[in-house]
Amino acid sequence: MRLVLLGPPGAGKGTQSARLQEKYKIPQLSTGDMLRAAVKAATPIGLQAKAIMAAGSLVPDEIVIGIVAERIEEPDAKQGFILDGFPRTVNQAEALAEMLKAKNMSLDAVIELKVDEAALLARIEKRARETMAGGGVVRHDDSPEVVRARLDAYRTQTAPVVAYYAAKKALTTVDGMAPIAAVSTAIDKVLGG
Ligand code: AMP
Repeated sequence: MRLVLLGPPGAGKGTQSARLQEKYKIPQLSTGDMLRAAVKAATPIGLQAKAIMAAGSLVPDEIVIGIVAERIEEPDAKQGFILDGFPRTVNQAEALAEMLKAKNMSLDAVIELKVDEAALLARIEKRARETMAGGGVVRHDDSPEVVRARLDAYRTQTAPVVAYYAAKKALTTVDGMAPIAAVSTAIDKVLGG
């Protein structure tokens, strides 16, 4: 199964991807996680991405497209994958379509988790508080100012990706404001069980 999860930061993509990874035994490919690993390891890509991510902006398409193109060639992605946080621009969506076409593959589903912005901010702040309470370190880009920039990036650059898949009749929208279990059930229904 090849799946794309769309939705703004805090919509629950990570939570659902982790669950689907278990259920379908396919890897969750999070470009955010891959980029954070690159920043941590101070690779050339990481050095380029660091300040952009800290500001809540999008890393250039060619970098992210390159990362995903390599990642989906890994053996564990042969049976399928869940893309979490990619594509985030129409350019990325088109590149993904090309990559899959070249491999004679297609997407099984594109699921949008729809949420409203005020609730998102509250959710992201809660995530930060819970992480701190658990002794963890809050992601710098989960601070309220950066979250606003990330939501702006979503509205201007990623919302058109939702329209792109909708125009192709490939999009299913799920209410991301529902309790996690209800979101899970709705997604399972889209995926046929
Ligand atoms: P995420 O963990 O998905 O919220 O991603 C964290 C940050 O990584 C984003 O705010 C962007 O700076 C960067 N990023 C992740 N995925 C992408 C992508 N597909 N295109 C551009 N930038 C990305």
